[in-house]
Amino acid sequence: MIQLEGVNKHFGHLHVLKDINLNVKSGEKLVVIGPSGSGKSTLIRCMNLLEKPSSGKVTVDGVEITAHKAQVAKVRQSVAMVFQQFNLYPHKTVLENLTLAPMLIKGVSKEEATTDGMAYLKRVGLSEKFNVYPSQLSGGQQQRVAIARALAMRPKIMLFDEPTSALDPEMIQEVLDVMIDLAHEGITMVVVTHEMGFAKTVADRVIFMDDGFIVESNTPHQFFDNPTNERTKSFLSRIL
Ligand code: ADP
Ligand code: MG
Repeated sequence: MIQLEGVNKHFGHLHVLKDINLNVKSGEKLVVIGPSGSGKSTLIRCMNLLEKPSSGKVTVDGVEITAHKAQVAKVRQSVAMVFQQFNLYPHKTVLENLTLAPMLIKGVSKEEATTDGMAYLKRVGLSEKFNVYPSQLSGGQQQRVAIARALAMRPKIMLFDEPTSALDPEMIQEVLDVMIDLAHEGITMVVVTHEMGFAKTVADRVIFMDDGFIVESNTPHQFFDNPTNERTKSFLSRIL
């Protein structure tokens, strides 16, 4: 579903992704962990062209999105992203946050977008909040709306960039529960997170990034119980 071949990313003199090769299968749940600044966000942002690789190839669902004529808008329709800072539209209601992109980008009718939007809100347990503004919601609720908004585009792939890192501790689980629910439905997921419990129970595979390299890639069982790389070991010993 996602294929990175020889991907490098430079920001000026900074070499942030170093010859990355990675395949994510359809339906796979991939968790990305690693220290701050190791390139995790840049890696997943290359999967929907929020960042353009300096070199190398990214292919999503059979389409080379790094090709010259790739259509960025089309790519973003099939690859949705959920951010640490929820990035909801503050002057739109919850329901409007969900219906806007399907109507504007996909040309879905208002009726259909509304019906769909309400269904996705129900899925994240927020039906009754459809008419309030984001500022009237808790952080956990806002992030659940952001996930529903991403789902409303019916993406093939969901990218999550530390979706619980900005939340108060008591709100983390409600967001993880929505993500776990989603994982059971077979959508392809790439999740940058420090939630090791989530990684252990949901991931098919965990990759560890350090200094722009993928230094370890393994099943969660192997990864946590039997890490092979020294940097992985020292990282895990600090956070577990
Ligand atoms: P992580 O998500 O693992 O913390 P990032 O991918 O955000 O790491 O960043 C990797 C490195 O690239 C960091 O040194 C960061 O400062 C740098 N970086 C990220 N985005 C930009 C940017 N737009 N311009 C310049 N440097 C950036
Ligand atoms: Mg990051």
